[in-house]
Amino acid sequence: MPDAPLAGTPEIPGAWTTGTLVDVRRDGRLAYLRLALETPFTHAAGQHCVVRLRAEDGYTAQRSYSIASAPGDDHLELCVEVMPDGEVSGHLHDEARVGDTVEVRGPIGRWFTWGGRTPSIAVVGGTGVVPVVSMLRHARTLGTGERLRVVAVTRTLAELPYADELLAHGAFVATTRENRGDRVAATPYPDEVAPLAAGVERAYVCGSPGFASYGVRLLGEVGVRKDIIRVEQFGPTG
Ligand SMILES: Cc1cc2nc3c(=O)[nH]c(=O)nc-3n(C[C@H](O)[C@H](O)[C@H](O)COP(=O)(O)OP(=O)(O)OC[C@H]3O[C@@H](n4cnc5c(N)ncnc54)[C@H](O)[C@@H]3O)c2cc1C
Repeated sequence: MPDAPLAGTPEIPGAWTTGTLVDVRRDGRLAYLRLALETPFTHAAGQHCVVRLRAEDGYTAQRSYSIASAPGDDHLELCVEVMPDGEVSGHLHDEARVGDTVEVRGPIGRWFTWGGRTPSIAVVGGTGVVPVVSMLRHARTLGTGERLRVVAVTRTLAELPYADELLAHGAFVATTRENRGDRVAATPYPDEVAPLAAGVERAYVCGSPGFASYGVRLLGEVGVRKDIIRVEQFGPTG
């Protein structure tokens, strides 16, 4: 059965609300943040939000972050990778503490969403896994995990956000800088991806702009039609 249209998620994101950090966990270049929203919003798996930081002198900086929490979670979960000299990621990774507040607006993006039923494949790199983690969590709630096949590409397993959760789901993880078991470090080979792409009705690609081009190419090589591929690029935002 295909996914129903997005019920409950507004066309236009709501007003800014205040998010209070209730949990911060740092792991290398990653920070996992959980926020309690003053005015909670309902999101669909795959959507993102905008986080705005405000300095005492009124200066603001805002960036987009995908939502990792499942629809219906009481808290909003984000995973932020710190960028060299990154203004917002640097603050969220290095300085944010439990009890701090930020401004949040969302949910955003009705295209890169998965309702939990359409047989799909996701090809993701780096923090591009974040929206797919929300999809996996949604699938667990619905009991439809077998309908979302995941190919995650990372330099090393230690650098992959949510590695344990992805592996528990049965994701195919390709490490490009370390051997894993019998598999020599490499990007995924088409014959590794082809069985996962068989019969899918939709495909998701998420990561840096370079990764997005690569992911679309890879899916094309294994016979996935371009018109069923949905892409989210994590380029720099202003
Ligand atoms: C829809 C969407 C969803 C996103 N979701 C996530 C997410 O879940 N987790 C996450 O960590 N990031 C995500 N991003 C990226 C995020 O919005 C910021 O671009 C990133 O955190 C860097 O912001 P900054 O203020 O720290 O860096 P800036 O101060 O803006 O830039 C610092 C330096 O890093 C470079 N840079 C900035 N952004 C990127 C980038 N994305 N990739 C490579 N180099 C960059 C700049 O060119 C500059 O050299 C998402 C982006 C989009 C558009």
